[in-house]
Amino acid sequence: MSYANTGTNLLDFDRGALAAWFEAMGEKPFRATQLLKWIYQQGCDDFQQMTNLSKALRARLGEVACIDAPTVVDVQRSADGSRKWLMELADGNRIETVYIPEDDRATLCVSSQVGCSLNCGFCSTAQQGFARNLSTAEIIGQVWRANRELANDPQHPGSVSNVVMMGMGEPLLNLDQVVPAMNLMQDDFALALSKRRVTLSTAGVVPGLRELARRSDVSLALSLHAPTDALRSELVPLNRKYPIAEVLDACREYVGEGRRRVTVEYVMLDGVNDRDEQAHALARLLRQLPSKVNLIPFNPFPGTRYRRSPRERIDRFREILHAAGIVTITRRTRGDDINAACGQLAGEFQDRTRRRERIQVKLAGGLDETDVA
Ligand code: SAH
Repeated sequence: MSYANTGTNLLDFDRGALAAWFEAMGEKPFRATQLLKWIYQQGCDDFQQMTNLSKALRARLGEVACIDAPTVVDVQRSADGSRKWLMELADGNRIETVYIPEDDRATLCVSSQVGCSLNCGFCSTAQQGFARNLSTAEIIGQVWRANRELANDPQHPGSVSNVVMMGMGEPLLNLDQVVPAMNLMQDDFALALSKRRVTLSTAGVVPGLRELARRSDVSLALSLHAPTDALRSELVPLNRKYPIAEVLDACREYVGEGRRRVTVEYVMLDGVNDRDEQAHALARLLRQLPSKVNLIPFNPFPGTRYRRSPRERIDRFREILHAAGIVTITRRTRGDDINAACGQLAGEFQDRTRRRERIQVKLAGGLDETDVA
């Protein structure tokens, strides 16, 4: 462990869990709200500074607990104002977190796993393989750390106003850790972001969608990318397990409970999923789902066989959807000069699946396609 502190990491607890922890220590549960305000609203990680707690309690907390977020080992700044932080975890694994300032908001793109197990062919994270799930502390700790970095910045770019769970990993495969982190993002005593400002993006894990509906209330984004099962199974292998109809059913159930429309993400791959008839098919598919579409121009990475659709193709695709009554925007590519754009996050970690190794051998001409499934 590279962290100086020891004891229970309080970033692992949402308000309910923190109150229970205090009670188990023989303390009043309202200590939880005091602590949350110090941690998330003041950015404080030193119990001694928490002056509305008794000296005795501060000393005790110093002995049994700590507030440990991932540490920043590198930052890259894009010409467009985006930043990509390389953050190190206690076990030495490294993940990436991206800050995207806009006129009216500042969005943080947060990772949920070290790497990803889904192996979508157009995503750079997939090429890195998978190491493990992130803990709640490592997920909320990315937001905590980002806010601290921003607060210490002489240029005062403000704090995070929106979180998208669109970094490395599949958040619905790590729900037990992701849900408490998202609770903290939304909690009035912690980060106090409204539910429209916290978005979970999924490749379509159907049981996870059902569980999310029971346990949380955040905005939902679905990485669809293709209008037919044949093509989607090629691009997003998870589709073989959970085909489009089932995924859309689960999304419909999710929004059916008075929630906002689903954001459908669709990466624009030249000659693969960007033809007129595919736009029409997508429009038909989405007739049954309260949704809007985000077209994402493909962001290339070394070794990829895909290309970004030309601008006119993307515009045409958008017009077809628009004419069918579907609100559609083309996502502006941000941070691509620092490899911080969608699908470019890589981190540094030990791949437990050995996929990275196989891909490298393949790129060097040693294996054929089927060896890298
Ligand atoms: N696993 C989740 C969270 C990742 S979100 C999910 O699939 O939704 C990251 C988004 O960027 C997804 O919509 C993903 O499909 C998209 N993406 C991945 N690689 C990309 C690339 N190279 N160019 C553009 N978008 C990409």
